[in-house]
Amino acid sequence: MSDESFASSERTRLRRLPKRGHYDRRTIYQILDAGFVCHIGYVIDGRPYVTPTSYWRHGDKVYWHGSHASRMLAEVTDAPVCLTVTHVDALVLARSGFHSSINYRSAMLFGTARKLDGEADKLRALEAFAEHLYRGRWRELRPPTRQELLATTVVEMQIEEASAKIRTGPPADDDTDYALPIWAGIVPLSLTRGTPQDDGRLAAGVEVPGYLREGETG
Ligand SMILES: Cc1cc2nc3c(=O)[nH]c(=O)nc-3n(C[C@H](O)[C@H](O)[C@H](O)COP(=O)(O)OP(=O)(O)OC[C@H]3O[C@@H](n4cnc5c(N)ncnc54)[C@H](O)[C@@H]3O)c2cc1C
Repeated sequence: MSDESFASSERTRLRRLPKRGHYDRRTIYQILDAGFVCHIGYVIDGRPYVTPTSYWRHGDKVYWHGSHASRMLAEVTDAPVCLTVTHVDALVLARSGFHSSINYRSAMLFGTARKLDGEADKLRALEAFAEHLYRGRWRELRPPTRQELLATTVVEMQIEEASAKIRTGPPADDDTDYALPIWAGIVPLSLTRGTPQDDGRLAAGVEVPGYLREGETG
């Protein structure tokens, strides 16, 4: 593995539309850092499971967490995992169903997951998760209790191999179809943050923090 790119192995080499493939860390990490929901693929007794969950990245590692009673977290520990992240950017409406498509950015990561055991490591990882979602919030939160930390499993996966696949741009129709009286183009889609709504139980004087107000960061 070079500093800049993950090696393209037989496992990660895109065969379908390889021109959409990327293996450089910059592209892959941009996709990872733009999201917080992934799908974890793993096998139990020869059967595949794919579990959606939240994740975050630090360096060449990705993390996810959950209850210490989670079957998924128990099963992925010391086991091979495939983790995927997908962002849908647009519907692509071509003049035929065949060429209709989706603009997307996706990443597939491969590695072996391991449990974080030490309290300090867990705390550091959980802080990184909170900061990934809302920068500046961790220092405001009530610190986790020892019991809460014991009840939480955090899993870390060194990214051994990774690939990204990206589609952008308008539909690519057959030349003969451009004369057809059919609208074609793209419909952008995005995940947007709404206006914060308090839970009705705020202590007196508590206001919406800066990191939740539009245009402000923590
Ligand atoms: C939102 C969305 C919608 C899609 N819709 C369709 C669809 O309708 N039909 C369809 O055939 N495909 C669709 N794809 C593409 C799909 O993810 C696969 O790339 C494609 O089906 C080829 O699969 P394959 O196993 O033949 O790929 P191969 O090229 O054989 O895969 C080899 C390796 O390439 C890498 N790779 C493959 N796909 C991806 C990916 N998406 N992201 C990152 N790395 C990848 C992996 O490392 C994989 O192990 C869609 C993708 C996204 C994100």
